[in-house]
Amino acid sequence: MATKEEVRDVIIIGSGPAGLTAAIYAARANLKPLVIEGGGSAPGGNLPGGQLMLTTEVENYPGFVQGIMGPDMMKIFRDQAARFGTEYTTAEVTKVDFSIRPFKIWIGDDVHLARSVIISTGAKSLMLNLPREDRLLGHGLSTCATCDGFFFTGQEVAVVGGGDSAMEEALFLTKFARQVTMIHRRDAFRASKIMQQRVLRHPKIRVLWNSQVTELVGESQLEAVKLHNKESNRDSVMKVGGLFYAIGHVPNTSLFKGQLEMDPAGYLVTGQGARTNVEGVFAAGDVQDHVYRQAVTAAGSGCMAAIDAERWLESQPTESVIAGTPTNW
Ligand code: NAP
Repeated sequence: MATKEEVRDVIIIGSGPAGLTAAIYAARANLKPLVIEGGGSAPGGNLPGGQLMLTTEVENYPGFVQGIMGPDMMKIFRDQAARFGTEYTTAEVTKVDFSIRPFKIWIGDDVHLARSVIISTGAKSLMLNLPREDRLLGHGLSTCATCDGFFFTGQEVAVVGGGDSAMEEALFLTKFARQVTMIHRRDAFRASKIMQQRVLRHPKIRVLWNSQVTELVGESQLEAVKLHNKESNRDSVMKVGGLFYAIGHVPNTSLFKGQLEMDPAGYLVTGQGARTNVEGVFAAGDVQDHVYRQAVTAAGSGCMAAIDAERWLESQPTESVIAGTPTNW
């Protein structure tokens, strides 16, 4: 095991819009942040750049009049943070200890020490795990109607899921699509009654009950889906311009279990800005937000986390190797 001698002012875990915005602000505040950006292409690893690396065109981020490809946008964020002195490590964090300061962050056998930590490890959309999902994501397959709905103007689209997210996505898509088909694996939605009513009464929405997507059809662009109806035991093919998965998300918080307060779904709980329940540990982006999930809101909360971290560090004695005390806000 190799413990780094340097105690960093800030270590940022995760490199989506939240982490990289936090890095821009922390670097410009002279905190020399280290961003542990994820494990590159390692199997099961977190993707440096986060979920935007899996999208194509981003048209709703202010400042990009013509839109920008998700990966290009993340490269700009990364370069901007590097310009002010941010350092990067392309690796997965394997363990953390926030019970004592300086905080300890492990990458394999290497231990990094930090006075403060910003967590921006994001969340993952649940997938059906069908063949060709990776290839078709951003090419007809999407996990975010708010982000991609506009691209399907005048087309037929389908939404998979029966929870509140699926209802919201379907209703949002009616603004653009000619018809929205909801594909649900059971004969009843689990969404709130009011959302169900809005969906079921909407003239542009129809529901395929007891149905599951069994195959995505299309090589470089989604063209259709194969369906299996569990009740009739029949298979069918439905042509669609777009397919939206809305079957839930999981926050990337398994590293922090038992150390940071989480809600029942595993999202980090923040209060008073970006503070977690451990003093000196902050959280930003989708890891603490299951409501908005947008690049711009993630970036905004990354900015908040960096400002909160800077102010908190300023309030600390310089050599503060003291027990990390949980705090109530
Ligand atoms: P969710 O409530 O867990 O619903 C997921 C849906 O996807 C369920 O209908 C589930 O089917 C279906 N599903 C899961 N895995 C599937 C699979 N492999 N194949 C086919 N279908 C699958 O998730 P969510 O809708 O994202 O909502 C998460 C939480 O946020 C909920 O508490 C929700 O109320 C809340 N939320 C609230 C709002 C709002 O109030 N405006 C908006 C969005 C979300 P089954 O029903 O058969 O399990």
